[in-house]
Amino acid sequence: MTEVIDGEAVAADVRAGVADCVDTLADAGVTPGLATVLMSDDPASETYVSMKQRDCEEVGIEGIHVDVDADASAATLFETIDELNGRDDVHGVLVQLPVPAHVDRREVLRRIDPEKDVDGFHPENVGRLVAGDARYKPCTPHGVQKLLAAYDVETDGADAVVIGRSDIVGKPMANLLVQKGPGGNATTTVCHSHTSDLESKLADADIVVAAAGIPEFVDGSMITSGATVIDVGINRVDADTDRGYELVGDVAYDSVADVAGAITPVPGGVGPMTRAMLLYNTVKAAGRQHDVDVDLP
Ligand code: NAD
Repeated sequence: MTEVIDGEAVAADVRAGVADCVDTLADAGVTPGLATVLMSDDPASETYVSMKQRDCEEVGIEGIHVDVDADASAATLFETIDELNGRDDVHGVLVQLPVPAHVDRREVLRRIDPEKDVDGFHPENVGRLVAGDARYKPCTPHGVQKLLAAYDVETDGADAVVIGRSDIVGKPMANLLVQKGPGGNATTTVCHSHTSDLESKLADADIVVAAAGIPEFVDGSMITSGATVIDVGINRVDADTDRGYELVGDVAYDSVADVAGAITPVPGGVGPMTRAMLLYNTVKAAGRQHDVDVDLP
């Protein structure tokens, strides 16, 4: 029987643990605060930010939101970030990506105080992750690591293949899997758009993390029997629904479920974990900034 990895349930456990951390912080007189900054008119980005704000409210994190006009100058965005960096009631600062083309994304990431960089994208935090001394692990790969642990999927000594090498998913995912220590110690292969013969790389994989952004890219014929398949992809495809589209992953679910030992669904797999790990990083940040020990889930 293929095990369906329930991201909603694991994320609910993480949120409950985060709520306990919020109580610990409250006992020390601290209310954790997450600031989101949106410089975009993209409806999807607006939805992501409002979901993050709702998630905060649910666990007792103070949500602060700032809209920056999509036509404003980069300097205006940087001033907003500087102001949030300086606020004592703001422990995490997140700029929703993508930013408009006239703004240098890398400069934005560098501008955020690394102690408040709860996305984990600042070069200092990327460096610490690679060095095996992570401050804030990026939310999506960290969520995947938590899912694997929750379902007792052994990474130690496993052959893992990550499909995708983006800065937010593929690269940090590979870094986490390859690190020495719990949730790591996997022999990790990173595949990308220039990989030749992806099938041969997948043939022996015990763990596959699919993050290519291509609908139903991985099918059952590419997976070895009993493998754990984690589907990070969220792709909109046209469909005869009220919304005119449906969300599908990077994995052809039915065909892979016939072969895999365990699989994450889309939706209900990695997505809820990404959201929960942002809350985790925010209470971690508040604890660090006020020298309060929080018992992270
Ligand atoms: P991206 O477009 O930045 O990166 C995609 C990667 O896939 C690239 O590194 C590219 O080299 C690789 N790729 C493309 N074609 C390939 C091929 N034929 N073979 C092998 N590799 C190939 O995307 P991203 O930001 O990393 O996101 C990946 C997917 O995950 C998207 O569907 C995105 O929507 C989704 N996502 C989901 C969550 C979540 O919470 N579940 C979070 C972030 C991203």
